[in-house]
Amino acid sequence: MQQRVVVLGSTGSIGQSTLDVIARHPERFRVYALAALRQIDLLESQIEQFKPAVVVVVDPVAAEQLQTRLKSKGAPVQVHTGAEALIKLVQNPEIDTVMAAIVGAAGLPSALAAAEAGKRVLLANKEALVMAGPVFMEAVRRSGAVLLPIDSEHNAIFQSLPAAYAANPAEHGVNHIVLTASGGPFRGYKKEQLTGVTPEQAVSHPKWSMGPKISVDSATLMNKGLEVIEAHFLFGLPADKIKVVVHPQSTIHSLVQYVDGSVIAELGEPDMRTPIAHALAWPERIQSGVSVLDLVACGQFDFAEPDLEAFPCLSLAFEALQRGGSAPAVLNAANEVAVAAFLDKKIAFLAIPDVIRQTLAAISDSTLTDLDSVLDVDRKARCYAESLVGVA
Ligand code: NAD
Ligand code: MG
Repeated sequence: MQQRVVVLGSTGSIGQSTLDVIARHPERFRVYALAALRQIDLLESQIEQFKPAVVVVVDPVAAEQLQTRLKSKGAPVQVHTGAEALIKLVQNPEIDTVMAAIVGAAGLPSALAAAEAGKRVLLANKEALVMAGPVFMEAVRRSGAVLLPIDSEHNAIFQSLPAAYAANPAEHGVNHIVLTASGGPFRGYKKEQLTGVTPEQAVSHPKWSMGPKISVDSATLMNKGLEVIEAHFLFGLPADKIKVVVHPQSTIHSLVQYVDGSVIAELGEPDMRTPIAHALAWPERIQSGVSVLDLVACGQFDFAEPDLEAFPCLSLAFEALQRGGSAPAVLNAANEVAVAAFLDKKIAFLAIPDVIRQTLAAISDSTLTDLDSVLDVDRKARCYAESLVGVA
């Protein structure tokens, strides 16, 4: 039977790569629904190609425009709008699989609702786990949802752990895991050299083609910081069992080091269609459109320690993880505000960690019990960070 798939964030980098993989396997997958914020030109062509039953356009004005265009064509698709429509969509009993690829905190409620509904959840939206790790993982446990990581590092770790792992490192002889980082566009820069770097420079990533927010996160190394927190919740490892190493080739996507000295890693071309195809088909394997890795052409692999002085965001993420409770949610909110302000040229690149540090210092810790408690912390931290960057 076909897997009925919802792609949340279908117009983004991950959303488009997901549809690229799905298009190669029409017998396996049916695109039941697409969802995006407002990019209706692209949505229109995706609707034509995949003929979904439902489309959610969160922005009401864009939804209206799309509705008008589709009516004139007589396309048989329901268009819904508003963030609430995303929740209803993922709860629909007709769907099996949810690709959660909305960027940022906006992706949390729908990803969590998919977990609560016991779906097969393909999680690209790392911010959801960073903000709401304990709440999210408890929802997965309770509902029996199948959670498959899309982030390339976590997908690599998932593939390198035993199938029966279930967040129990000691039982399976895991000593620690190593997340690889490309180092981003400013790898090798010293702090002084980062003073005047622009958003244009920050978003031109040397190895991966991604949306603007995660590209800036890669440039500050906050992306790796968010991934450390994501790995903590996914694999049940404490902060000191999660290491980061800079690997500029981005061929080794991450590694598991076992107590007997064995190291198991997943390697491949840096192309998100590999983890996406892995998660879509798991436990089977399907073609992804990614070419087979040519080891001789790779030639050599390099590794280095991250430079925490030039890229303090990684240390801030470790600190937030160690603090626990609501601190990772505060870190995430402050980072989203700071990154948006940097992309808008309101603050300098080096001000991003300052905004996060000050917000973490200002917002006191609380316990996360449910979605509302997470959103409450998110709001408070966002408000504080916005006052720092002058957009409140
Ligand atoms: P992107 O900016 O290219 O796309 C974001 C998508 O989210 C778009 O479809 C947009 O319409 C939608 N969106 C944004 N705000 C929304 C809102 N308020 N409501 C509904 N939809 C909204 O981002 P991306 O690079 O595809 O990243 C998506 C997620 O995947 C992020 O959490 C990112 O960290 C994660 N991720 C991305 C990559 C990558 O290679 N791009 C790799 C690993 C993880
Ligand atoms: Mg990643």
